[in-house]
Amino acid sequence: MKNLKQIGFGVISSVFQENPLPFDTYGAISGVFMLFLWLITFLFCIMLIDAKLMSQKAATVIYLITFIIGGLLLVAIPNTLLPISEILMAIADRKDLWYLLPVLTVLTILFGTSLLVGRIFCGYACPLGTFQELLSKINFKQDIKNQKANKFHFEVSKQLTGKVRWTFVGILFFLAILLGINILPYFDPFSGFLVLRSPIDLNLFIAFVGLSIVGISSIFLYRPYCRFLCPFGAGSDLCSRYAKNTYQRTEDCTECGLCEKICPTHVAAAESNKGECYYCNRCIEICPEDAIKLNLEG
Ligand code: SF4
Ligand code: SF4
Repeated sequence: MKNLKQIGFGVISSVFQENPLPFDTYGAISGVFMLFLWLITFLFCIMLIDAKLMSQKAATVIYLITFIIGGLLLVAIPNTLLPISEILMAIADRKDLWYLLPVLTVLTILFGTSLLVGRIFCGYACPLGTFQELLSKINFKQDIKNQKANKFHFEVSKQLTGKVRWTFVGILFFLAILLGINILPYFDPFSGFLVLRSPIDLNLFIAFVGLSIVGISSIFLYRPYCRFLCPFGAGSDLCSRYAKNTYQRTEDCTECGLCEKICPTHVAAAESNKGECYYCNRCIEICPEDAIKLNLEG
């Protein structure tokens, strides 16, 4: 049981194990920092998207900045698995709700922004998300006419990814509630970034192998961790389905269908909810009529 907690988040949070306060101090400190980074990224991205300046090139620069600063320099900050793992650990250890106040506040704010504007966090602020997005560009069609670039690309339906992800979330909570164990750290590729700090730590090396598997899969399958396993992604998908301020078609749309063909998550249709829209901008780039824009009046 103890071993389970010593990998991944446990490595960092063990610093706070002798916590004299009635709430999770580690969750509070990392949460404030995470929200600060998120606020900066959010304001900057929403400004660029609204001004129609978020081209593939601009987006790639932001992906690189998030990956280098958040992933490599800050070693996986912001990390959305942290608050969820803290919750699972608190459930497993039968801590009271008060202890979880900081992480629940962070999650409420993050899910609240998904409810407003969809998954800009996943699109641009998450180092693991941007890592997968950058790798997806190697083999994923950027241009509908360039069919060869797409020959090793696997398509999966929204239904399948949703089923796998929610089953995984169910198992996580089932094991925490009934057996008192938190297995999320075993499925935590974020901790793979920590190998840069402690290259000889075996647990971190295992997490690094997980991160590498996610990276290699991203070349062939769009954002595999986000769509199949990330518990934060599951909640964010749910909230974003009700978001009104997302990409929508204008009256200039001629229904040519190009955006629907290029969308890697099959959510570009006018009637689709945008739960799985990662603001990748492939639809914007391909549209010959410039008929897709961020609707901020929803
Ligand atoms: S789904 Fe999870 S891993 Fe993917 S970008 Fe969102 S928070 Fe990051
Ligand atoms: S292509 Fe799909 S996922 Fe990408 S921005 Fe457009 S609707 Fe969203």
